[in-house]
Amino acid sequence: MDLDAVTSYRRATTREDLLLAPGEVPLAGGTWLFSEQVPEITGLVDLQGMGWPDLVEGDGGLEIAATCTIARLVAYSRTSMHSAAHLFDDAANALLASFKIWNTATVGGNIAKSYAAAAMTSMAVALDAEAVIWTPDGGERLCPVAKIPAGNGASTLAPGEILRAIRIPAHALASRVALRKEALAENGRSGAVVTGRVDPDGSAVFAVTASVLTPRVLRFAGLPDAAELAASVDAQDGWYTDPLGSADWRRGVSVVLAERVRRELL
Ligand SMILES: Cc1cc2nc3c(=O)[nH]c(=O)nc-3n(C[C@H](O)[C@H](O)[C@H](O)COP(=O)(O)OP(=O)(O)OC[C@H]3O[C@@H](n4cnc5c(N)ncnc54)[C@H](O)[C@@H]3O)c2cc1C
Repeated sequence: MDLDAVTSYRRATTREDLLLAPGEVPLAGGTWLFSEQVPEITGLVDLQGMGWPDLVEGDGGLEIAATCTIARLVAYSRTSMHSAAHLFDDAANALLASFKIWNTATVGGNIAKSYAAAAMTSMAVALDAEAVIWTPDGGERLCPVAKIPAGNGASTLAPGEILRAIRIPAHALASRVALRKEALAENGRSGAVVTGRVDPDGSAVFAVTASVLTPRVLRFAGLPDAAELAASVDAQDGWYTDPLGSADWRRGVSVVLAERVRRELL
């Protein structure tokens, strides 16, 4: 799509280049930015010139650059020895997007855009990922990815803040994990996504996304029984109605998906 309001493009190669002028926004894969007109956006600052390594493994876990494409993450998941790595693939398949979008869209762009159906957010929240955020004053702040969405398509990132990477802790990578999604249409955008994981210490974490405006994370000392899990999911708030599903439907489906995840983890 032609972005009539955009009059400048810069390719960032240094941190200083990431200081955004009024009207400038970061450009990652551009799959959303080039899909609709936003009159307030007058300049694009391309993050791909920063040269951030896509994936960095260390003793503490895995760092995924914001600019890592979904395709790259899926390729990694298919060769990784981490038991939870298949979640990257599962989450990519929960997007209403083909491999063509996977090749361009980035992990950071999906999280920063913060649609409720952002599957990279589902993945990151499932694994307790922490976001590394570069602030315009040259500093850095850390924030759970679960706290980045502020609504469907709104984020808590302040103007000028750049999502640099997400970090997944080693214990989450070593977990057993499962994802279930439901959509009203067979190939439609996710109406509900539920993930669950059991860590090596036996503790369990369930996350509800897509059906709620912002992620909900439920923690248990061990895998809960069916009644406890259903009650915990049902007790959440933030269910919403849009053309992709009513709030009541999203709530009911999330309870069902959580039980399917629980059974798989059993
Ligand atoms: C066919 C198709 C299907 C889609 N399906 C889904 C879906 O199922 N679920 C869903 O949630 N979305 C979906 N989307 C929208 C989706 O969120 C984006 O297309 C994609 O994830 C955005 O990634 P990107 O790298 O292309 O980001 P861009 O389009 O480059 O950027 C998206 C937004 O994030 C900002 N941004 C990007 N990177 C950063 C960063 N590192 N720090 C701060 N801000 C940043 C940009 O300024 C922009 O506002 C779909 C889009 C298409 C075209």
